[in-house]
Amino acid sequence: QTLRFSGKVAVVTGAAGNIGLACAKRLAQSGAAVALLDMNADTLKAAVADVATHGVTARPYVCDVTDIAAVRDTIAAVVADFGAIDFLFNNAGYQGAFAPVQDYPEDDFARVMNINVCGAFHVLRTVARHMVERRFGRIVNTASMAGVQGPPNMAAYAASKFAIVGLTEVASKDLAPYNIRVNAISPAFMGPGMMWDRQVELQAKVGSQYFSTDPAEVAKQMIGSVPMRRYGNIDEIPGVVEFLLGEDSSYMTGMNLPIAGG
Ligand code: NAD
Repeated sequence: QTLRFSGKVAVVTGAAGNIGLACAKRLAQSGAAVALLDMNADTLKAAVADVATHGVTARPYVCDVTDIAAVRDTIAAVVADFGAIDFLFNNAGYQGAFAPVQDYPEDDFARVMNINVCGAFHVLRTVARHMVERRFGRIVNTASMAGVQGPPNMAAYAASKFAIVGLTEVASKDLAPYNIRVNAISPAFMGPGMMWDRQVELQAKVGSQYFSTDPAEVAKQMIGSVPMRRYGNIDEIPGVVEFLLGEDSSYMTGMNLPIAGG
């Protein structure tokens, strides 16, 4: 049986994390071979085993996306191992600290920008050079609703995700002549799990005028701001990524699709 992505090769960064793994599994279910990149060797090993259960080739690549030489060597290794790269899900990211801008820790600001912006750029640039040669590529960057409307106390994260939206728009234009489409997704509140619990707890701890100091109340406030009155599940992301990588979105590039409950 031929699946929609049979014969395709996908690179997924942040592949050991919640969203990366869910999307890697979906691409594998659709027949794509998957190169999983993450800097966490332990969780990456488990992720590869999980993806491989779908009967496709799945390989781990331990790589810190902020390390330019490592990115270059890793992408070269992926091309050598798989023959080519058709899809990139450029997704590795870090949420950063929670503090009002005047108190935001400088070192954390630099760290967030380095991972979320420079790291995403290094991977995009390196994979794009390969895709330009082949005159084919489909790229999805993970932005965030924090990159559309800046939430309080998240200066670095919001700045980094606004940058991803801008990078997506520019890359879509620069790469359009080479049959490469570049789009972004912007999840909002996703749960349950670490990322949800962490932001609820840390927003409560900041004690700003925008949120309660009680985490349970913060959770209610956040959900109350969503028209659909619930957080999104991680499972509600892979179908959107698959849509943007596949040919159902053949006339879409430079777009940023919110996954935000309205
Ligand atoms: P996660 O923490 O579960 O996964 C992130 C993964 O990225 C981890 O496996 C981590 O090891 C990896 N990573 C971090 N820094 C790296 C680096 N320098 N090099 C290589 N790998 C690195 O988080 P997630 O929820 O799966 O987040 C994935 C993406 O989605 C991120 O870009 C995040 O900002 C974005 N996002 C998440 C949410 C949410 O609520 N979960 C909402 C909007 C956007």
